[in-house]
Amino acid sequence: MTKLIYTTDLAHAGEAVVFGPWCWIKIHPDHHGDEGLLVHEQTHIDQHWRTWWCHSLMYWWSAEYRLTAECEAYARQYHTYDLPPHDLAEIFIDYLMGWYGLQMTRARVRGAFKTAVYTYRPA
Ligand SMILES: [Zn+2]
Repeated sequence: MTKLIYTTDLAHAGEAVVFGPWCWIKIHPDHHGDEGLLVHEQTHIDQHWRTWWCHSLMYWWSAEYRLTAECEAYARQYHTYDLPPHDLAEIFIDYLMGWYGLQMTRARVRGAFKTAVYTYRPA
């Protein structure tokens, strides 16, 4: 069972983070009740299990992997909202461009995100 903690103690992690050996989720109190953000972080936990705990290593090693992992998480988050704001995709692309050190063009990041959104299938 994933433990969920609401805290402002997120260091430089932004709004939420998965941490520790048991994959607890920390979310900023401003996002209390944000189902999409919870789904985003749960996706990273799924990625840990799916990769036999190599996710963190690959995440920091490879910008390509980071792009793929974050696009999957943002796509699942996107599909969580019944009526996503019309500009939510661009907001998520802004996050992808600004927060993950991808060093890629916006067109490349947008393409990867849109592919993840359109190919998303619920678990
Ligand atoms: Zn993420």
